[in-house]
Amino acid sequence: MKYLTEYRNLADTKKYLSLIEKTVTRPWNIMEICGGQTHGLVRNGILDLLPEKVRMIHGPGCPVCVTPLNLIDKAIELLENGVIVCSFGDMIRVPGSKKSLLEAKSNGGDLRILYSPIEAVKIAKENPTKEVVFFAVGFETTAPANALSVLHAEHEGLGNYSILVSHVLVPPAMEAILDDELCNIDAFLGAGHVCAIMGFEEYYPLAKKYKIPIVITGFEPVDLVHGIYLAVCQLEKGVHEVKNQYTRVVKPEGNKVAKEVIRKIFEVGNREWRGIGEIPNSGYQIREAYKKYDAETKFGISHMKAPENSDCIAGEILRGIKKPNQCSQFGKKCTPYNPLGAPMVSSEGACAAYYHFSNN
Ligand code: SF4
Repeated sequence: MKYLTEYRNLADTKKYLSLIEKTVTRPWNIMEICGGQTHGLVRNGILDLLPEKVRMIHGPGCPVCVTPLNLIDKAIELLENGVIVCSFGDMIRVPGSKKSLLEAKSNGGDLRILYSPIEAVKIAKENPTKEVVFFAVGFETTAPANALSVLHAEHEGLGNYSILVSHVLVPPAMEAILDDELCNIDAFLGAGHVCAIMGFEEYYPLAKKYKIPIVITGFEPVDLVHGIYLAVCQLEKGVHEVKNQYTRVVKPEGNKVAKEVIRKIFEVGNREWRGIGEIPNSGYQIREAYKKYDAETKFGISHMKAPENSDCIAGEILRGIKKPNQCSQFGKKCTPYNPLGAPMVSSEGACAAYYHFSNN
């Protein structure tokens, strides 16, 4: 399959691993931002094949993992009060403060698992006497489709559709990680799918301010080892530039049409990240002109708060300070079958990647 098979090629993967081995002279910590990259590294055994001097640190780029507990509680509150709640499948087993969406569904809630928010608009049209809410979770990648669903609902004249927004942005999170006094990151692998939407021009000031190389990569083995090689080359030469390994998908300016749809519905605002706390200007919120599609405003649930589970160190894992197997609950009280935190549930969660694919 073009653009896929050649990036799973063993000979090319070995070639870049060998180049990394020949190039690296001292220890470097490289953070891959995205949970998809983490899974690619762990699932393909790349962590075990890299030279010891190259240490991969797993970043916060799992949208399910960083969705605050209180938003899960809010979705459950709606579900238990007769609202049809629609969600991507990843969210439904993530524990809220008392239960998960799946448990609330088993108590009779009308929870629909969808692949696209546009399907939720269709459900709203088919159920005019019911309120329908789409749980709009994600990074910049899913924002265009969620914004489009609002435009679609407006076009259809639907008054019973809204979205529960938990959209987070990558560059402010990178900056928060770099500002953390415990930060030991020397370079980043940027998330290719986020940059497919947003481009990578906003990374230039970050690379310059923090003197840190940033390489945008894809998710296949060759993408990842090629990206690591480009980062190691920069680190060894003492340069800090933004490089695009994922040229088959990412353009510097991103997708202008998608960005315009996002801009129409959302504006940038402060956002809470699960396990990390509030990061200034790190998320999207619905613009005033479209507030009637904002489920938190519509149902008066903005005030709801929820304490984190003190046994779960997801915040330290998402900031790259600890690895999943350094959590005392990993594989003991916390497994994919009985998760204590979101990183053990999500298909992009670092704890789930270690549980399923790593011997470490
Ligand atoms: S192993 Fe479980 S408890 Fe530990 S950080 Fe991961 S999700 Fe949280």
